[in-house]
Amino acid sequence: MTDINSNLEKVISQIRMAEKSAGRKEGSVKLVAVSKFHPAQAVIKAYGAGQALFGENRVQEAKAKFEEIRTEHPDFSLDLHIIGSLQRNKVKDAVKIANCIESVDRLELIEEIEKQCAKIGKKIEILFELHTGEESKSGYADENTLEDSIRRIAEGQFPHIITKGFMTMAPNTDDTERVRKSFVQCREIRGKMAEKFPELDFSELSMGMSGDFKIAIEEGATIVRIGTAIFGERNYGENER
Ligand SMILES: *Cc1c(COP(=O)(O)O)cnc(C)c1O
Repeated sequence: MTDINSNLEKVISQIRMAEKSAGRKEGSVKLVAVSKFHPAQAVIKAYGAGQALFGENRVQEAKAKFEEIRTEHPDFSLDLHIIGSLQRNKVKDAVKIANCIESVDRLELIEEIEKQCAKIGKKIEILFELHTGEESKSGYADENTLEDSIRRIAEGQFPHIITKGFMTMAPNTDDTERVRKSFVQCREIRGKMAEKFPELDFSELSMGMSGDFKIAIEEGATIVRIGTAIFGERNYGENER
């Protein structure tokens, strides 16, 4: 049996140590506990251990799970980030259940998020996902396209969208230099965009997973997304990380 309590404790202390050794302020890195493929009970357990922020990459799964939890425990104050690549027809449900969509990677998605948020009178936080590792398929791959999306937001075309920063996934490799390069690239693009659009909030950098979060923290991550190290291995087929 996975001991979620002790895993959480361990992960949080590793985050604090990584902050410290990187000269970062204590508590400057937030933990998104990635509960994908794990049942509602696992989320409830983690919540009981003090974890209130969760990440899911599939909207349908997240909707079922979090509606169940919120119905069973209306007193819980849970935050949910959507971290997986998002199809347009899933946006309607995504904006209802989530506080933040970390995987915004194209203008079409921004337009749909705006439309669905306007319908329900909700403002939502977003991160721009950047393609920095060769083998990941998702994320903005070129800066001009990214800049165009950001400019439209800065111009006020999407009043229900609150920019918070950037997200990336490093390549899944033991080559730590390639992993680091991916995080550095994300941070550098943030720097450029923050200079061009000083009116927008780009304070968050969501980078780092179970296998690489220490490097991510060294390179400036403010959010780490950790699943396996907390909830254990996931049961599924191929093609997921
Ligand atoms: C699954 C997933 C994670 C967590 O991965 P672990 O290796 O289990 O920590 C983080 N980010 C994204 C986008 C994911 O899909």
